[in-house]
Amino acid sequence: MFDKSRELFEEAKKYIAGGVNSPVRAFKNVGRHPLFIKKAKGSKIYDEDGNEFIDYVNSWGPAILGHADDEVINKTKDALDNGFSFGAPTILETELAKRIVRAFDSIEIVRFVNSGTEAAMSAIRLARGFTSRDNILKFNGCYHGHSDSLLVGAGSGSSTFGIPSSKGVPVDFAKHTILAEFNDLDGVEEIFKKHGDTIAAVIIEPVAGNMGVIKPKDGFLKGLRSICDKHGSLLIFDEVMTGFRLTYGGAQHIYNITPDITVLGKVVGGGFPVACFGAKREIMKYLAPEGDVYQAGTLSGNPVAMACGIATLDILKRKNPYKDLEKNTSKIVSRIMGLANQYGIPASGESIGSMFSVFFMENKPSNYRDVQKSNLRLFTNYFIGLLERGIYIPPSQFESNFITIKHSLEDIENTLVAVEDIFKEIASGKFYV
Ligand SMILES: *Cc1c(COP(=O)(O)O)cnc(C)c1O
Repeated sequence: MFDKSRELFEEAKKYIAGGVNSPVRAFKNVGRHPLFIKKAKGSKIYDEDGNEFIDYVNSWGPAILGHADDEVINKTKDALDNGFSFGAPTILETELAKRIVRAFDSIEIVRFVNSGTEAAMSAIRLARGFTSRDNILKFNGCYHGHSDSLLVGAGSGSSTFGIPSSKGVPVDFAKHTILAEFNDLDGVEEIFKKHGDTIAAVIIEPVAGNMGVIKPKDGFLKGLRSICDKHGSLLIFDEVMTGFRLTYGGAQHIYNITPDITVLGKVVGGGFPVACFGAKREIMKYLAPEGDVYQAGTLSGNPVAMACGIATLDILKRKNPYKDLEKNTSKIVSRIMGLANQYGIPASGESIGSMFSVFFMENKPSNYRDVQKSNLRLFTNYFIGLLERGIYIPPSQFESNFITIKHSLEDIENTLVAVEDIFKEIASGKFYV
């Protein structure tokens, strides 16, 4: 079923580090080789062996409209025809910026970059420049890209591989990053009692997606807001995953908290390499060329990428699909939980907006420590079982699944049929690994 992908992976490994350009793509922790994707449309992706899959990865978040939306393609092609990189300002940058500023009350000014990693890294530098402080506080299991300061206790690929931080990150850099546990406000308070006047910023995924989906407990984000205010630290919401996905205004709109700096990526570029960070003018003016915090990018604000972002946001604004997405997502999760219960599989589910996770553990996790208790053998069997039945989910327990506006009721029913089949097999003692 996957022979061609296996061959293509062997070939790729001769030329590309580990055969992939981002580690989780390798399927390493589920003991498989990756599928080489030929094309995608709507809720489906197609691999080089000719298999069709219902896609719950959706480029790890950007494809909220489903793949290759016709309107987005046409508008992006129009931009392409005008030339694709000038290294000089275009109207398209201002147009995308306006849409972001209108969507987020916390943002008056933005700066575009090419990846979430860059955006989070630059937001941290800006916070350090603004406060003249060096330390930052992040949460165990939250992922903010792979820059040195932030690759400490990071989720996503790194929690999957069980490396708390990466080789090659100097201890001298990592020591400026203080770790706290998600949803543990007392722990944060303790840290601030000791180090409050040295902390430039607290950075958090307001809804965690990179250790699987974990929601903030009541009062947690509000507590962080008031601790930051009390100590003159900035609060950074990394909404690379949640921005324009949970609502048009991100998680901050749902929880009604105003961060000082917001980091966006993924959906904001509609699948092209776009990310940004934004804040009120008094903070953003510290950035070069106005201020002394340096940040730059040859391809930043690329016109084709901007056009794709604009087209994507305009459709979201016009269709306002968020209620329907939420309804479909909670339906999938509650039905899967029903099946797990029926077949005696230890599982818990979490969902918000169009993000969801199925954890193979009885109780819903509330932080990174909890999520480590998940049964990874069950997850791996679930993953392989789904793949062989034409359902493509992230190859890791510690990731969010995504649905798009193109996922039909039929897609959802077909997914549930596959899930039931797998749970039935597991209950009868049949495992793939
Ligand atoms: C994906 C992600 C990033 C990193 O973005 P890249 O574009 O992969 O560099 C940062 N923060 C969060 C919350 C993310 O989900």
